[in-house]
Amino acid sequence: MIDTVYFEEDVLEYPAVSRVKKALPKANWVPIERFQELFNIRNQNFRIQKKNPALILAKKYENFVLPVPSGFGMSSSKNFYFSHMYNCLYDCNYCFLQGLYSSANFVLFVNYEDFFEHISQTIEKNKNDTQMFFSGYDCDSLAFDKVSGFSDNLIQFFEQHPNVEVELRTKSIVTSSLLRRNPIKNCIIAFSLSPHIIANKLDNKAPSIARRIDAMKKLADSGWQIGLRLDPLIYTKDWKNQYAELIFDIMSQVKVPSVHSVSYGLLRFPKKMYKKISTLHNDSGLFAFPMHENNEVISYGKEIENDMYSFIQRELHKYLPETKIFHCTN
Ligand code: SF4
Repeated sequence: MIDTVYFEEDVLEYPAVSRVKKALPKANWVPIERFQELFNIRNQNFRIQKKNPALILAKKYENFVLPVPSGFGMSSSKNFYFSHMYNCLYDCNYCFLQGLYSSANFVLFVNYEDFFEHISQTIEKNKNDTQMFFSGYDCDSLAFDKVSGFSDNLIQFFEQHPNVEVELRTKSIVTSSLLRRNPIKNCIIAFSLSPHIIANKLDNKAPSIARRIDAMKKLADSGWQIGLRLDPLIYTKDWKNQYAELIFDIMSQVKVPSVHSVSYGLLRFPKKMYKKISTLHNDSGLFAFPMHENNEVISYGKEIENDMYSFIQRELHKYLPETKIFHCTN
């Protein structure tokens, strides 16, 4: 699946690298100085590179833990994110990563212990607040887990910190490492979902919605807390029926006590990013829709926005209490 692994020479001592070697025995390994020399080259073609991305193993030195953009969190008073990886195995048409990076290569930061050290410091510094940590902001939290083994390390760490919550956000059904162990109550496995007709068109390479719901059900049945992320909401001809059906399908399989939270938010992009992504996908109906601009943000506009928000809220309220439903604006 990955032909070439570029590696910074001082990452070889990390256990994650031995794991990658086992997982990718046929790959060609090429030493590099620093990951930026490949990843940040200007004028790379994201779409062409996405057809056969390489893996870059790197060490992270700074910005391990960052505050989330406003409007991203849920009920906690302090919300942070961390990114052990840049880019994703999947290829969703609306993915903001293709607007953010010029390279489609995967970067895996293998010094996991340093992430946990910085998360520990953040927890200590904010010990009087409720805190939530988000993984999977610049990647999918679980899609690469068979190779990276990151989630095991992460769960062992957060098991020692039961007073803060962590979210693994995913479209993946790679859940075997979670199902093998006892669940921890402060870890939320949050699935991004769209109606299956929309996901079939836009969530390229990602598991079908039926398989995601099945993975959610298995995790919920074994005691894990589940998050539902209806984000981005996509406007289409028959959207009301499609979203009502999706919410019904989920809620008929996952019991309410297992649902930690549901968040929803409309398709929206910063203006520059929208321009870049729509150029990459000029054949997609998603970007043919006449969008609105407000304060440098491109979205469907107020009328559609209000219509979709009130409908989704009403549907969710049929199954879930108000306290579990969050509107995400970023
Ligand atoms: S799963 Fe998320 S991170 Fe991966 S391509 Fe889709 S939108 Fe991007």
